[in-house]
Amino acid sequence: AGPLSVAQYMREALTHPAQGYYMHHDMLGEKGDFVTSPEISQIFGELIGIWYVSEWMAIGKPKTFQLVELGPGRGTLTGDILRVFHQLGSLHNKCNVSIHLVEVSPKLSEIQALTLTGEKIQPESDDTSPVYMKGTSKTGIPIFWYRTLQDVPQGNSFYLAHEFFDALPIHKFQRTEKGWREVLIDIDPEVPDKLRFVLAPAVTPAAKYFIQDEEPRDHVEVCPDAGVLIQKLACRIEKDGGAALIADYGHDGTKTDTFRGFRNHKLHDVLIAPGTADLTADVDFSYLRSMTQGRVTTLGPIAQQEFLKNMGIDVRLQVLLQKSHDVTVREQLIRGYQMLTDPKQMGERFFFFALLPHHRLKSSDKQVNPGHAKSPVPAPIAGFSELLWQ
Ligand code: SAH
Repeated sequence: AGPLSVAQYMREALTHPAQGYYMHHDMLGEKGDFVTSPEISQIFGELIGIWYVSEWMAIGKPKTFQLVELGPGRGTLTGDILRVFHQLGSLHNKCNVSIHLVEVSPKLSEIQALTLTGEKIQPESDDTSPVYMKGTSKTGIPIFWYRTLQDVPQGNSFYLAHEFFDALPIHKFQRTEKGWREVLIDIDPEVPDKLRFVLAPAVTPAAKYFIQDEEPRDHVEVCPDAGVLIQKLACRIEKDGGAALIADYGHDGTKTDTFRGFRNHKLHDVLIAPGTADLTADVDFSYLRSMTQGRVTTLGPIAQQEFLKNMGIDVRLQVLLQKSHDVTVREQLIRGYQMLTDPKQMGERFFFFALLPHHRLKSSDKQVNPGHAKSPVPAPIAGFSELLWQ
């Protein structure tokens, strides 16, 4: 019934309950369509775990907090973070931690449950509850599954989104002689089972509302779902404290046409066989920053190589190499390190971006640097500058 916006197309192709790409199979890893950093090396998740520990310490080691992950894939990242939490007695034994996973995919949530709890978990029978699955991690921490962030209880929380925002639906716009026009997806009249891009003949509501007056580019992608989500995260952090760490490939408001598909680790035409390939678009961090509406302080985007080096990836690699005498394991560790940090691989393609309450970076006598109550200088934010243990 007429052309679809790129956002409608992307939403159906990725998350349609029956045919959506994410819903019924495991696409991650060598046998799938793409590989992500936590699947490449355990060091990645460990350093993210240390980031949260460092923030937890900087805000005075609160007795309770939630770790909320958006789009947890196979659950590997949260698993590595929990291993770090477990090793730190002051956190594991004295703090009430709970894990909250936001996941739409029934297949991936099943895999997450196996990774994190070691068991197959039955979905909750109560349809009215926002929690659709519940379990306990191998280290004894409660885990809850939800379909949207809205369902996650409020409260002091650390949020994490790794390769999540790039999967959210984008609108595409083209500058023309008649002004901005939205790019739509339509059936090719010559070949009925083929899709093609077309320009909307008139101004669509999205073209009217999503393009900034001073926009210098000729082609723009806007992800309103990402904007809404960032607003929600910013409101929660402003009210309850905590922090959000967002990592993805992206740009700071400079790129134009980044919508693409991946299948079997190769680029795939986004218009062919929807539902069978990953569809993705670079995250526009400048848009995310503007959508926080000044409620929180933002840091980054900073390149993954720089972030991981600041977090001490070189030292961690050396420690693991010293502990391991197995040649295959050593080679795997070094290969993983290179993939994560090499500028040509993931080192300069991926970026880290954080949201923090304003008071976290303000000089204060109390809430930061708990060990140094008289120091007026707030503890630096790990990763965005070198990690310093207090
Ligand atoms: N963070 C993981 C997985 C990235 S793939 C990693 O880095 O390995 C994207 C993840 O987001 C998958 O778990 C997918 O099922 C989930 N996802 C995609 N769209 C979503 C949506 N709209 N709501 C919730 N989860 C979503």
